[in-house]
This record gives sequence, C-alpha cells and structure tokens, in this order.
Amino acid sequence: MKLNIFQRYYTMSDNEQRSYLMNLIHLVPIQRRRNGNYTNAENSRRQTSVTFTLSDGVGCFKRVCKQTFLETFNVSPSKITTPIKRLKSGLYMFTDKRGGCKTFKYTHHDRCVVREHVNCFPSDVSHYCRPKHNNDIEYLSSDLNINRMYAAFKKEHPNTLISKRFYYRVFRKDYPNVKFRRPRVDSCKTCDLLHMKQSSSSNKAEACKAKMDLDAHHRVIEKARKEVANDCLQSTLPGGEACVLTIDLQKVFPLPKLTHSKMYYNR
Ligand SMILES: [Zn+2]
Repeated sequence: MKLNIFQRYYTMSDNEQRSYLMNLIHLVPIQRRRNGNYTNAENSRRQTSVTFTLSDGVGCFKRVCKQTFLETFNVSPSKITTPIKRLKSGLYMFTDKRGGCKTFKYTHHDRCVVREHVNCFPSDVSHYCRPKHNNDIEYLSSDLNINRMYAAFKKEHPNTLISKRFYYRVFRKDYPNVKFRRPRVDSCKTCDLLHMKQSSSSNKAEACKAKMDLDAHHRVIEKARKEVANDCLQSTLPGGEACVLTIDLQKVFPLPKLTHSKMYYNR
C-alpha cells in the first residue's frame, strides 16, 4: 500500500502534492494536556494537535505517526510545515505564494531621501595611504556608525516610515566604497599636522602645498616599510647579516589615553 501511495504522490505537481498532504493531515482538539507552565489552557502556545493519516485510495484513511507519514512520502518535516500552517489558518487547498509580482514598500523617492542624508556626512580619503592606492575608498568619521546615522536621520525626518533596515540596505548597496574610519591610534605628528592644514586651510596654495608635503611624507614611510620588509626577509636567509627585533606593546595601556605617537611611545 505504501509503495502505491508513494508512486501516486510523485506523479503530482508540487501544488497538488501539498494539497494532497493537507488532506491527509488533520487538526484535532488536544485530548490531554500535561505539565504546562500555564494554569489556563487558553494561555498555552499549542491549541490543536496534528494527526497524520494515509489513504488506501478507496476512501479508507488509516492514522499513522508523523515519522511513518514522512517516510512514506520520503519528505522532510519542512515540507509539511507550510501545509500545516495553512490548515491552521482555515485553508484546505494549497496555493503557492512564492514568486510573482511583488509590490515594494519603499519607493525611489525614499531611496533618494536616504542618499541625500548619507551625502551630507563629510567623508575623506585615507589618512596614511597616498590617494593613488585607494582613491575609491572614502571614510566617514570614526564617531559615526549606522545606528547614529539613522538616529540623526530620524531627528531630521521625525515622521518618516523608513526603517533602519532599509536605511542600512541603501547605505550598503549605494555606497560600497564608504567605510567608517577606525578610531585613530598612534598617529604621526607630521601626518596630523599636514592633514589638518590640508583640510582646514582656507588658502588654496597652502592646502595644495600641504597635500604635496603629505604625499612626499607618505613616500618616505612607504620606503621605510619596504626596507623593514626587506630586512625581515634578509634575516630569514641563511648567512644573512640582518637581525630583526619585534617589540610587542599590546599590554601597555597608557593613561590618559592619547593617540599621538610621541606621547604614546614616550610613556
Ligand atoms: Zn606621518
């Protein structure tokens, strides 16, 4: 009998299969309740029992356990989750609600409002690297994060229906090259000074000079970095004369907390 049922089941379409399963699954009142954390039965999460039957094809239904039911049709428990939900909501036929034409909750205008808001936050390129390396990546202030940005958005548009989720989605999708800067530690005196000059100077020539100086300064750093890497390589070679020392300052917590390297290391 089981083989018959199994074969018949697999000649059906997906919708028919689920409707067929729905007809074999029955909701019945709970016969006996045990050991619940409730005194009144109405407060229980479970209000019905689910029973499973198999049909012999000539109008006779035989009650079986869930395991047998699933094994007979060779389906996973997730296959019957939706049919049971539909039964509980009072339906007897299964219709597939997946796909189709969806209406979107947010309009293009909502997206523009979010973009407009994100654009009003000042961003700049990396502090340490020369622009040619990652001229695409822009950094927002390290004081910001999505929560704070959305809070500011809510303040500006108190009656908005735009959710944080949507705000975040627009930010991620439309600004793939905008990141939040990590809080600065151990910043260099020259970099700090030149960067400040470059971003705050009202004199264009002065700002331009600061930019060039910063660029030259970064070249020096890059050269030094390359040399350190080279020394590290040399020290691993047999017969190499270079010796590299590594000092770990991870567990040193200077107080008060200052990010400037001179103060950081002198301590
Ligand atoms: Zn520097």
